[in-house]
Amino acid sequence: MSDDRQGQMRQQMTVPTVIGESHGDLGTVLMHEHVAVRSLTMCTAFGKAWYDEEQVFRLAVQRLTEARVDHGITTIVDGTPLDLGRDVDLIRRVAEASGVRIVVSTGFYYSDEAWLGGKDPARLAELLAQECSEGIAGSDVRPGMLKCATNTAGITDLNRVAVTSVARAAVMTGLAVFVHSSHGGVAEGQAEILEGVGVDPARVIIGHSAAVQDLTSLRGFLERGYTLGFDRWRVNLQAVDRLVALFDEGWAGQLMLSNDHCAYLDLGRWPTPEGSLDDGNGYTHLHRLVLPALRSRGIDDAALRTVLHDNPQRLLRPAGA
Ligand SMILES: [Zn+2]
Repeated sequence: MSDDRQGQMRQQMTVPTVIGESHGDLGTVLMHEHVAVRSLTMCTAFGKAWYDEEQVFRLAVQRLTEARVDHGITTIVDGTPLDLGRDVDLIRRVAEASGVRIVVSTGFYYSDEAWLGGKDPARLAELLAQECSEGIAGSDVRPGMLKCATNTAGITDLNRVAVTSVARAAVMTGLAVFVHSSHGGVAEGQAEILEGVGVDPARVIIGHSAAVQDLTSLRGFLERGYTLGFDRWRVNLQAVDRLVALFDEGWAGQLMLSNDHCAYLDLGRWPTPEGSLDDGNGYTHLHRLVLPALRSRGIDDAALRTVLHDNPQRLLRPAGA
């Protein structure tokens, strides 16, 4: 076997994290969290009046250390796309200090940003794929997950450019895609774009599915091979009923559990260094409140291991590995 081919195979078997390639077991994985979600424009303009990096660093380390020590969480995927202020240097420092491996993402949020106008998704996909093979902005950190998003406005002309570019990058890289879906008919529109360029539904997580109340719709996506991401429990513990039903029907191999927690978030709230940080739920809300509720409803440890360990290992290893 040629050195090139051996190198390619080794790369396929590994999962890129901010502290280096992981060759072994990733342990318990939370597949959709964030260290910091922020407007880079406002951070640049107003500095610490908007965002205090050292405060965010300390809080993220404290919360992730707690998650590792108290609940055995050893890996998280940071789902921050490149246009929500993704900062791989900060994420690397947090991973090193907390002892939790962090996999970073690339892709685009749902915002109809003006620069998307007139762009060829194929060329944007090449840029995303280049990050995945060569590293982010000159660093040796490679993304291990793709992210696209659509809000309640649905697939607008600009959103179509963003989602299509991520879909094409998924085909090029073999990485899994986390889809931020605001539901209704939105997930169907996203699936149409993804499948249209040849993305295998088995490589796609439809995130924020805890908000979907229609079990028939959820089952429809599972039957087509998609994985459903149940997160954002802080607003939606009623989703436990729907999740238990899906476990009971035998879908554990296509379910994903996480929190979607951010140590810093400037969306939907006024950020001040004191008031913007942390909603009090941390990265342990799932383990403290949701898992006990599932266990009390008869979901056993084997099923939870499938969701928190086996499914992430499969999804984080590029297709073909
Ligand atoms: Zn998120």
